[in-house]
Amino acid sequence: MSRLVVVSNRVADLRQATQSGGLAVAIADALKAKGGVWFGWDGNTLENETEKLGIDRVGDVDVISSPLTVEDYSQYYIGYANSVLWPLFHYRVDLVDYRPQYFEGYMRVNGKFAALLKPFLKQGDMVWVHDYHLIPFAERLRALGCRHKMGFFLHIPFPPADIIAASPNHAYLVEALLQYDVVGFQTSTDLNNFNRYVEENIPDAMGADGVIRCGGRTVRALRLPIGIDVAQFTELAEKTFEDINIDHMRRAILRQRQIVGVDRLDYSKGIPERFEAFSRMLHLHPELEKTVTFLQIAPPTREDVTAYAEIRMRLEGLSGSINGKFGDIDWVPIRYIHRPVPRPRLAAMFRSSEVGLVTPLRDGMNLVAKEYVAAQDPADPGVLVLSQFAGAAEELEDALIVNPHDTEEMGEKMELALRMPLEERQNRHARLLDRVKQSDVGIWMETFIDQLEGAGGADSVAA
Ligand code: ADP
Repeated sequence: MSRLVVVSNRVADLRQATQSGGLAVAIADALKAKGGVWFGWDGNTLENETEKLGIDRVGDVDVISSPLTVEDYSQYYIGYANSVLWPLFHYRVDLVDYRPQYFEGYMRVNGKFAALLKPFLKQGDMVWVHDYHLIPFAERLRALGCRHKMGFFLHIPFPPADIIAASPNHAYLVEALLQYDVVGFQTSTDLNNFNRYVEENIPDAMGADGVIRCGGRTVRALRLPIGIDVAQFTELAEKTFEDINIDHMRRAILRQRQIVGVDRLDYSKGIPERFEAFSRMLHLHPELEKTVTFLQIAPPTREDVTAYAEIRMRLEGLSGSINGKFGDIDWVPIRYIHRPVPRPRLAAMFRSSEVGLVTPLRDGMNLVAKEYVAAQDPADPGVLVLSQFAGAAEELEDALIVNPHDTEEMGEKMELALRMPLEERQNRHARLLDRVKQSDVGIWMETFIDQLEGAGGADSVAA
């Protein structure tokens, strides 16, 4: 059996992976089952370069991590990854802040990481690289003579060629993707965009049945939507939390309902549009006054990137003005919390909210949508309102699907969700839960590893 080597921007603490949930647990489980290595940044920044690695052995798994220099952090992580690739791949060309030194930093860190990992690779290992931070990783490893099977999964969207072309390095990025044996995408839209780019821009590439042949190599490109650990999340949601219960009971007595939104505070999540839609709903349906509260939890992320400071200011202004306009002594329409919440409490909060609002302007998948479904009580489930631009919308057709740019429609769908009859809620929820189970993170993981095992890598290490 081949060992698995997982490479991701950040490594999780294997001993505490259950607390981070989802992907970290799935990776930890797969690594424990097969043995192997998890390699990535340890989250620290240092003034000067060091080759000293953190090595933590847990059973048959080595967690190997490296710090970044301050310059690497600013050019690779804040720069190319989060000020170029993140906005670009989320269709926000207007927010791209391209600088040549960012790309240099991106290549430097990918090259450095590849060189640091190489001595730990054994013959027959399969390397699975995650996400946009590390697109060049296989190309860099192959340049060092590694001929292992290598797979890549893109957790964020892959936009059409015209958009990708806004980065001066687009041709390199796609050629670098073609250095993997398996490349996975979240949705068929992403997969089609990639295939079209290759078809139209890579002269010697030939594609059929999901297999691209080019430069003497064979690359399998596939759609494989990621999911959550459904059983684990449902169990979390069933746990009781006194304060959440009291809050729920208080609302039941007052005949009040709760709409919930949970997102990192990112401009891709459409949070201001959601606030506008809520305000629109209150304006169009004055009968809802004092009967509904919107709880938005949005912890800070990537605060070193300018666009994130801007979205934060905008949101604070908007929630203040909506509360000022509609609120009363005994009613705060929007409760906005700018802090992380532990997963078990989050799950319980989803369960006790009548409507889950997941309305990104663009999202690779959006796991919150799946978590909201898994958290519901099937006997009396809440309603998911979901953006057509979340990857999850491809599977979760039984949600109330909205266009997040159309705040009027979104407001109307929220109101519809609040008065949806029990039977329709149950029927929709049963179908949604079915779909969420089909892409459980365990199945997702196994399917990708199977594909990688079946791929035709040269399977030997150069001396
Ligand atoms: P993204 O990866 O872009 O942040 P996803 O919705 O796919 O978006 O995944 C976000 C994950 O982070 C989910 O598992 C969600 O439960 C978790 N999360 C989001 N907001 C919070 C929060 N305030 N506190 C704790 N966890 C959060």
